Amino acid sequence: MTDLTALTLAEARDGLAAKTFSALELTDAHLAAMEAARVLNAYVLETPDRARAMAQAADARIANGEGGPLAGIPIGVKDLFATEGVRTTACSKILDDFVPRYESTVTAQLWRDGAVLLGKLNNDEFAMGSSNETSCFGPVINPWRRSGSDAKLVPGGSSGGSAAAVAAHLCLGATGTDTGGSIRQPAAFTGIVGIKPTYGRCSRWGIVAFASSLDQAGPFARTVRDAAILLRSMAGHDPKDTTSVDRPVPDYEAAVGRSVKGMRIGIPKEYRIDGMPAEIEKLWAQGAEWLKAAGAELVEISLPHTTSALPTYYIVAPAEASSNLARYDGVRYGLRVPGDNIVEMYENTRAAGFGPEVRRRVMIGTYVLSAGYYDAYYLRAQKVRTLIKQDFENVFAAGVDAVLTPATPSAAFGIGEKAGADPVEMYLNDVFTVTVNMAGLPGLAVPAGTDAQGLPLALQLIGRPFEEETLFSLGETIEQAAGRLTPARWWA
Ligand code: GLN
Repeated sequence: MTDLTALTLAEARDGLAAKTFSALELTDAHLAAMEAARVLNAYVLETPDRARAMAQAADARIANGEGGPLAGIPIGVKDLFATEGVRTTACSKILDDFVPRYESTVTAQLWRDGAVLLGKLNNDEFAMGSSNETSCFGPVINPWRRSGSDAKLVPGGSSGGSAAAVAAHLCLGATGTDTGGSIRQPAAFTGIVGIKPTYGRCSRWGIVAFASSLDQAGPFARTVRDAAILLRSMAGHDPKDTTSVDRPVPDYEAAVGRSVKGMRIGIPKEYRIDGMPAEIEKLWAQGAEWLKAAGAELVEISLPHTTSALPTYYIVAPAEASSNLARYDGVRYGLRVPGDNIVEMYENTRAAGFGPEVRRRVMIGTYVLSAGYYDAYYLRAQKVRTLIKQDFENVFAAGVDAVLTPATPSAAFGIGEKAGADPVEMYLNDVFTVTVNMAGLPGLAVPAGTDAQGLPLALQLIGRPFEEETLFSLGETIEQAAGRLTPARWWA
């Protein structure tokens, strides 16, 4: 039999429907691949028994003609999503061995549609990071290597485990969350597709909160079509999340292959940043050419507040994080380190439970929200955020259908390379992605080529609110032109 882990999600779906193989066979093939790839550290928890039971249930439903849109499709779940009865840690020591008694809405919808849980995927602690190096379970290794080198590279972050697992064929798709780039940047670093939907498209209920006004769930997959299939199951209104939007979920897959003729694509001049590698410039120009060849029209645009996005993000996100993380006090969840009195217990627990990056964010957030500094930092950042949003509204009002940018300012970097004394080195990685979260827009990362060292590079498409379909059509056009990228398997 062909290698079942090499199929796309759409191919696996069709093979299951045609009974070419069973859901159990498909799941077993993935469990074996996971076992052989433990060196990548993508999964922080494997759930083989649950996976086989879910696969068998899917086989029974398929046999009765009752299989849902994802019946028997094995996927991985970022460890930020609460999974009922399955340990959920946000890759932080502070959650310890926390086992939720409830299921996040997004994952509940995936199981409703028949998907199979293979396990929980590694991420930066509380999704704070761009390299997966802040996880309490240790870093994830990117399945990609520079040609002629065996140096270990980061998969990006914070959803590094999700990206590595999909790229290395350890699942057919995975969930991620994106607060400032955590789906798009790791997708770019591992040569796969990732989409951050419009804020409000997917319910945040049951996802460990980082910065609630920016957090959004979305899928990782190896093709644009597969990402579209997953998003349809993940999206939808949820009364349990007041920011979730009540609008019908389109058949995103139908947008894949749709003509992009006549679409107006904005090329923002502010994204041509100083020191951008020539390879990224070239990739961007190539992407624009591909869309033009498919009948789209390119227009030079300006998003003047772009340079303020990163500093603004690093006020808003830590502010919200410091508030959200106040709940981890040793009383209700996970870790508790005793003290002589309750205040000491809080202090001991939080000092032992949070890693250095999380502590830094809590301190910055507390500072910018404190009485004397609130107006100068937090309130001001909120105003700048509005300006960033208005930049996009203006170009969309002028008839632009989507914006094309590079996804990241570089290819994957080495483990330890940017985790040094200056955290800003790491923060700069999100320069092209945070704007999209600040404005609440959908953003898709799609592989578009490789650099001189053979590492994947990606482009980002940014759309109007709730126009993910446009991104899928444009993304597939780039995918068709660029071809898909698969890492050489060195780990097994
Ligand atoms: N890298 C960014 C941060 O550290 C974004 C992370 C994310 O999107 N969750 O905050």
